[in-house]
Amino acid sequence: MFDIKISGGTIVDGSGQEQFLGDIGVIGDRITRIGDLSDASAHQKIDATGLSVLPGFIDTHSHADGVLLKEPQGIHSIRQGVTSEILTQDGMGWAPLDSANYRSHARYLAGILGDPPLDLDMSSISALRGHYDRKTGPNVAVLVPHGPVRLSVLGFTDAPLRGDNLLKAQNIVRRGLDEGAVGLSTGLSYYPQSYSDTDELLGLCEPVQALNKVYVTHVRNHNNERAKYGSGIDEALAIARIADVKVHISHFMTRPTSAGQVKELMTPIDEAKLTGADVTLECYPYAANATIPGYFLRGEFHEGGIDALLQKLRKSENRENLVDSLNTLFPGALSNAAFTRMVSDKNSKLTGFSFSDVASDRNLSIEEMIIEIMLEEQLACGFRAIPPSSVSVTRQVESDVIELLARDDYMLGSDGIPLLEGEGLPHPRAYGAFARVIGPLRRRHKVPIEELTHRLTALPAQRFGLTDRGVLQEGAFADIVVLDDDKVHDLASFEDPFIGPTGIEYVLVNGTPAVNHGMLTGDLAGRAIP
Ligand SMILES: [Zn+2]
Repeated sequence: MFDIKISGGTIVDGSGQEQFLGDIGVIGDRITRIGDLSDASAHQKIDATGLSVLPGFIDTHSHADGVLLKEPQGIHSIRQGVTSEILTQDGMGWAPLDSANYRSHARYLAGILGDPPLDLDMSSISALRGHYDRKTGPNVAVLVPHGPVRLSVLGFTDAPLRGDNLLKAQNIVRRGLDEGAVGLSTGLSYYPQSYSDTDELLGLCEPVQALNKVYVTHVRNHNNERAKYGSGIDEALAIARIADVKVHISHFMTRPTSAGQVKELMTPIDEAKLTGADVTLECYPYAANATIPGYFLRGEFHEGGIDALLQKLRKSENRENLVDSLNTLFPGALSNAAFTRMVSDKNSKLTGFSFSDVASDRNLSIEEMIIEIMLEEQLACGFRAIPPSSVSVTRQVESDVIELLARDDYMLGSDGIPLLEGEGLPHPRAYGAFARVIGPLRRRHKVPIEELTHRLTALPAQRFGLTDRGVLQEGAFADIVVLDDDKVHDLASFEDPFIGPTGIEYVLVNGTPAVNHGMLTGDLAGRAIP
């Protein structure tokens, strides 16, 4: 007697092998049989006739750290068939930190990670994992975030870690990996991570390499002179070779300005691989990004942490230098952006408005307006780019994503920054990235479902050591999505990001239905994995 029997579906098992008709029997949290189970009985029978049965999707890059503590069901991901999310990306996270550091760092990161309860124990990676284990809809994996590691050792100080400080930091990384983190993450355009140099990163990768985990990096845009072998992707590839560590590169894809240039984008990757670099990458299917305004400010402003930063923003003698900083990193980017999140009563109605509109309303330049808003919101604000007005550019970026996912080293990471409905107008990628790729983009580009499913399931499970996940096979965890592959479609848009997809009929997490007949069940069967 099975707990759940999924019968008559087309099984796409995640391995990349050809799909086949069959039944799946689940007992407890595991798949116990795959085959012809027509005579077997079960407590719950799911008729999957005419539907496809896939392993649950794995989101390799999610910023749902805060939302999952407030809305544990994980509506943004579960409705898409995402059964595991990898959090603490870009070196951003709250652990391991003592309570004073946690409280100030939570304020500093609020524009991306949201507002967690401030009385939580964040003193270790174990404690962090405990806040999600069996308390959320999807499974959650975490990385050791570089930011807290640096904060614990040196605070918000503009200097690379050396000597004893580096040794202390290595120990923190090692302990976090021992406590179940699946790798180390950094974001070398965010602070305090950008204060590092290549030697610091090589040092921190020693325990990562020794324990066979993954170094996950959003490549460097700040302090480029600290990158010993070239900045950006070159630093990441040098680290892969020199530290002999598995490297995973976050959201590496073409943008509207580089649409169609996949070959150019991949040339350094493929060259590095020829000399032995072990590299995987991820992308998401949208021609617009999203982040926080602090991303654009040079390290001198961040030094000292959030209160020091707010003080510098307030001082009129810093204005010119601040404006210059906002203009330098990606010139022009700020004239093409819109607010996604503002928390104050004064500004919350401005979410969705473009920077230019808010600036002209205030009779300020865009840069001066951003400085004002950062102060008014105490940094707890976020924004996204406005997607290209030309549909052909959007289509080219989407077609590039499909071309990247045809490689066997590419995965899908939503980079989602989900909010609760009513909290703002987030980028739709948090609510639609997976449904968009497995639905309309797969159909438009006629990609075999087996190949694409592999990139969204078994490949990330294997890369991040998520044991017994990402595949439909006997003995594996029953993380399963049942969908209509002709109809699955994302509906989340920039205008209305919260709308869930259609065509996702059942989602099981550890053998428990999180979506039944297309409806959320509210069950919280997710675990801290692996
Ligand atoms: Zn990110």
